[in-house]
Amino acid sequence: MRLILLGAPGAGKGTQATRLAKRYAVPHISTGDILREAIKQGSQLGARANCYVREGKLVPDKLILELIRERLGRGDCKRGFIMDGFPRTIRQAEGLNHLLEAVNKRINAAVSIEADQNSLVKRLSARRVCSSCGRNYNLLTYPPKQQGICDLCGGGLIQREDDKEETIINRIRVYDKETVPLKDFYRSKGVLKEVDGRGSVKEVFQRIVDSLNNRLSEGGG
Ligand code: AMP
Repeated sequence: MRLILLGAPGAGKGTQATRLAKRYAVPHISTGDILREAIKQGSQLGARANCYVREGKLVPDKLILELIRERLGRGDCKRGFIMDGFPRTIRQAEGLNHLLEAVNKRINAAVSIEADQNSLVKRLSARRVCSSCGRNYNLLTYPPKQQGICDLCGGGLIQREDDKEETIINRIRVYDKETVPLKDFYRSKGVLKEVDGRGSVKEVFQRIVDSLNNRLSEGGG
């Protein structure tokens, strides 16, 4: 399964990607998580990406494509992947196509999780992330069992620096301008599926799985 998840910040890509990765037994690749980890570690990549991530701007395509080339080269990607937050520009999508073509592979589906702007801002403001394992929570719709503590690993929950209101608005603007055109890109390749992002995590997950089953039975496998 080689799947791309599209959707504005806060649409639920990360949460769904974690579940889909388990269901299809393939790695969940989040460029945002890779960049945040690099920033935390103080690596060269982190130093180059830091100011973009902090301000909710896109990290340059070249840097992202280098990162993805390295990640796709690892053995765990042989059976596929769930991409979360990549590609975000047409150039990145073309770069991914080239990388896959070189090994005779292609994307099975690009699923776009649709949500309206009000619910995005609400969701992102209420999002909390485990500082240790990275699991996402939402104070309104998916709270931890114990306040401020990760259910899975006991780590402390924090608010992402770029989940502040001014940065959120900027990230949504960047999404509309740079990433929404990818829907046409994948539609023209016959692999786009649009899924309603409203409702519970379970409901949205089921919609995605159903749309993928349809897609695969249409011959997209
Ligand atoms: P995310 O966790 O996907 O919301 O990403 C957080 C931030 O990391 C974004 O606001 C960007 O600054 C950066 N980022 C993540 N993925 C990409 C990408 N594919 N292209 C450019 N910047 C990215």
